Amino acid sequence: MKYVVVSGGVISGIGKGVLASSTGMLLKTLGLRVTSIKIDPYLNIDAGTMSPLEHGECFVLDDGGEVDLDLGNYERYLGISLTKDHNITTGKIYSTVIQKERKGDYLGKTVQVVPHITNAIQEWIERVARIPVDPSGMEPDVCIIELGGTVGDIESAPFVEALRQFQFRVGHENFALIHVSLVPVIHGEQKTKPTQAAVKDLRSLGLSPDMIGCRCSSKLEKPTIDKIAMFCHVGAEQVLAIHDVKSTYHVPLILKEQKMISYLTKRLELHEMHIPPLMV
Ligand code: ADP
Repeated sequence: MKYVVVSGGVISGIGKGVLASSTGMLLKTLGLRVTSIKIDPYLNIDAGTMSPLEHGECFVLDDGGEVDLDLGNYERYLGISLTKDHNITTGKIYSTVIQKERKGDYLGKTVQVVPHITNAIQEWIERVARIPVDPSGMEPDVCIIELGGTVGDIESAPFVEALRQFQFRVGHENFALIHVSLVPVIHGEQKTKPTQAAVKDLRSLGLSPDMIGCRCSSKLEKPTIDKIAMFCHVGAEQVLAIHDVKSTYHVPLILKEQKMISYLTKRLELHEMHIPPLMV
């Protein structure tokens, strides 16, 4: 199983969901079976009890799960059917751990965020990633994990720590991280400092980006890309320029033009995977 994590910095609502869905769609064109998990670091068990005025309408899954809108994007972009377990919230993780504690499963130990919550997150991801989600009924090859919110928030800290540990648990060739950041245009100039700060924050928590997705109102200029590459210690081919488009269905094309898939193929050794022919 290969994992592609999409996290975000600077501001929320930056387009992580669209980037995650688009990445999954491109991986699917290689013939891979793609599934996805959305992490929402709030304490609600699900989005069903949240005001649509604050959060947008919730998306209802085939199993009745009331979840974040992003899961609707995944289902549409990837042609899959997800379950309520594909949406992890802080509420679900804590409630699982507390139920286990009440049953005495921790054998008298002090139950703590690290390692009990962080282990529960990793086990949940590994279990849910394997659930077949397309009509073939086969186990997926790749799982896209979107971490909601912004890295550095108190709420997402246990998830960031769990993912930090997870990269070693599954191995370097099975784990890639795309960090999405904002490049604001001030007086006509594309500014890279928020991205530099966001990547620095991410690194300080033990995660390094394999690709940096840069959301910008205009097309990213070559000097901007080179500056981000230099100050964020990545190659220019690892900087993805994602400008504002009329339809978000154009985002996979923007990513394809920038050879995102050939980078991920090398990074995750996808050519070594046995890809069975797609059943039509
Ligand atoms: P996040 O997952 O970071 O909260 P979303 O993927 O839900 O962000 O995107 C937030 C909003 O921005 C959505 O309305 C989405 O349609 C829009 N959006 C995302 N990417 C783009 C883009 N490249 N161009 C224009 N609108 C975009």
